[in-house]
Amino acid sequence: MLKKLKLRNVLKKQHYGLVGEHSGVQICRWCKKSLVDEGVCYKEQFYGIKSHQCCQMSPTIGFCQNRCLHCWRAIELTIGNKMDSVKIDNPKEIIKGCILAQRKLLNGFKGNAKINLKKFKEAQEPMQFAISLTGEPTLYPKIGELVDELRKMGKTSFIVTNGLVPERLIEMSKKNQLPTQLYVSMNSSNEGLYNKWHRSLEPKAWEKFNQTLELFPSLKTRKVIRMTLIKGPNDNMKDEMLENYAKLILKASPDFVEVKGYMAVGFARERDGMGYDTMPNYDEIKDYAKKIAKVLGWKILDKHKFSRVVLVGKDRKKMKIQESEI
Ligand code: SF4
Repeated sequence: MLKKLKLRNVLKKQHYGLVGEHSGVQICRWCKKSLVDEGVCYKEQFYGIKSHQCCQMSPTIGFCQNRCLHCWRAIELTIGNKMDSVKIDNPKEIIKGCILAQRKLLNGFKGNAKINLKKFKEAQEPMQFAISLTGEPTLYPKIGELVDELRKMGKTSFIVTNGLVPERLIEMSKKNQLPTQLYVSMNSSNEGLYNKWHRSLEPKAWEKFNQTLELFPSLKTRKVIRMTLIKGPNDNMKDEMLENYAKLILKASPDFVEVKGYMAVGFARERDGMGYDTMPNYDEIKDYAKKIAKVLGWKILDKHKFSRVVLVGKDRKKMKIQESEI
């Protein structure tokens, strides 16, 4: 109980809007930037979602199996790796609560002289839910229903999973409750590096992660592998790792691979070997992305310099989300 209280106090200071027992939102900096016409996020550029209408949220605040080195959240205050002792909120209440919390947090922006009022009006009704704010979303037992509710409202949903609950993805697939775009994070080319990087509480983490990769080809939705690359003591962008990365990626056969540079922000930069000097620059990211594309036989589809991210894939025509995919 004390940990939960401590975590909620830390999050309130970080301008989270907390919702119910285990959910919350935080206004993404790209949502803010877009509202004053200072640019949009790479997901708007690559896939066509609208940054100013994006609700960055989590239904699992404080719950995750992993303690990833690169995680900028307060993972030292993680409440647990399971939600079976928590009162579970229902999806409709969570969505309603998140939209109200988003509006409340955005209210402070109205007075900004640079505000784009048309966008501000549109932002009152978020049409994209980025279910990746903090924690592991697939630990929430009703995550499929939440995605389904969003779909009924005509809203897109992106889920970023650590891949440690493949049974939940199977259940969502059977019930046709997969998100518009499903991400799995991949930051290690082998089990040893995986355990060092993710420090998981899940005993069979590497095995479960690989089960999710094997499952990916059968999941009928847009699929992305996100790689966060770093230099220094935890270097995961060596040339000798490329073959293994290719094997893992081809096993999952995603539509895209996002090759992204580590950001030494939040709680991450305080961890050993995770300082500013370990952040790869844009040229280093582009270079490694080219090598990944080459070993896969794929191509570079797009780039976003500000976010130091490069998109690798097979088919540029698949990038923008179509109405039929929502
Ligand atoms: S998709 Fe992600 S980066 Fe873009 S506005 Fe939403 S939370 Fe921010």
